[in-house]
Amino acid sequence: MCAKKLKFNTKTIHGGQRPDKAYGAVMPPIYQTSTYAQDTPGGHKGYEYSRSANPTRTALENSLASIENGNYGLAFASGLAAIDAVIKLLRPGDEVICTNDLYGGSYRLFKRIFEQYVIRFHFVDMEDLTNIEAHITHKTKLIWIETPTNPMMNIIDIKSVVQLAKKHDILTAVDNTFATPYLQTPLDLGADIVMHSATKYLGGHSDVVVGGLVVNDKDLADRLYFIQNASGAVCGPMDSFLTLRGIKTLHVRMQRHCENGKVVAEYLAHHPKIEKVYWPGFENHPNHKIAKNQMKDFGGMISFVPSGSSYEDAVKIVEKLQVFTLAESLGGVESLAGHPASMTHASIPKAEREKSGVVDALIRLSVGIEDVEDLIADLEQAIG
Ligand SMILES: *Cc1c(COP(=O)(O)O)cnc(C)c1O
Repeated sequence: MCAKKLKFNTKTIHGGQRPDKAYGAVMPPIYQTSTYAQDTPGGHKGYEYSRSANPTRTALENSLASIENGNYGLAFASGLAAIDAVIKLLRPGDEVICTNDLYGGSYRLFKRIFEQYVIRFHFVDMEDLTNIEAHITHKTKLIWIETPTNPMMNIIDIKSVVQLAKKHDILTAVDNTFATPYLQTPLDLGADIVMHSATKYLGGHSDVVVGGLVVNDKDLADRLYFIQNASGAVCGPMDSFLTLRGIKTLHVRMQRHCENGKVVAEYLAHHPKIEKVYWPGFENHPNHKIAKNQMKDFGGMISFVPSGSSYEDAVKIVEKLQVFTLAESLGGVESLAGHPASMTHASIPKAEREKSGVVDALIRLSVGIEDVEDLIADLEQAIG
């Protein structure tokens, strides 16, 4: 049966997968090997050297392609390695337009590494398309979209940005880490490249650092594969196995993340000591309509600002939390809390991050899949 015809929940479990040819193992074995015996020079069974390809990684790459409704998947050593490969499609003099409220590591990679190679990045508020249009020139080769954005939960209308990009023959890439294909599939909206930090929801258990890319176009896939093999930041067999195992429960985890996220967001919104809550599920969220249109549900990522509070007050709250763990990262089964100004976004200059709303007192929650009553009680004792 054509895997593309399967529905999403079935694809997370079976997409691109076959029982192993050797013994019929239902889970792809962890092919912990760097090399493969050849009968005669060049006489191999499809695998020569594990940087170029490894069967466990192939299984993950097929799964990634399947759940994102794409033709080709590529698995990397981290989300940033996947982004690195995309930017290596470009040449000196090329320009990129990207979301202003960007994952801190992406910002650092763009500014501190790739600007040295004369690739220019424009960080714009993509909620208004005219901001993108204003930066388009013949040098613009890529538009980099992150939605929902991190940590402000802004929603970018993928379809409109893609339409604008196509008019100017510009590639579009979407960092789909926050939403996951459970909530949105950017390739179906016309994007050229989908990128994942599979470290987060796809892996789902905070036990791997893995990245992924999915594309439809054969030529683009070949160019990215060339970069993946030539640069070498590939996903290892053990991490490929763990990520595949994670993906098999993505749909049930995401359903609970969304349910718990809604309860926590509403609790915070009604709390007298909370000034502001950022969550795309609220009807008064500035892009709620686009979120409703583009996403199946609203996810478990929430940011909030305690009333009139300072850097120190925010730190006090995150230190008091007990069920929520104070930690970088997101998307695991366990609830995490973070303080972007000192953690994920510390690499972005204060003036730059405050422009997009990442104030000193902002707290970000990755709502896990525990009993939501325990999460609310924990927030209650920490906020006071
Ligand atoms: C974590 C993250 C990345 C980077 O991925 P790593 O796996 O940590 O390299 C990129 N984008 C977003 C939105 C992320 O949350």
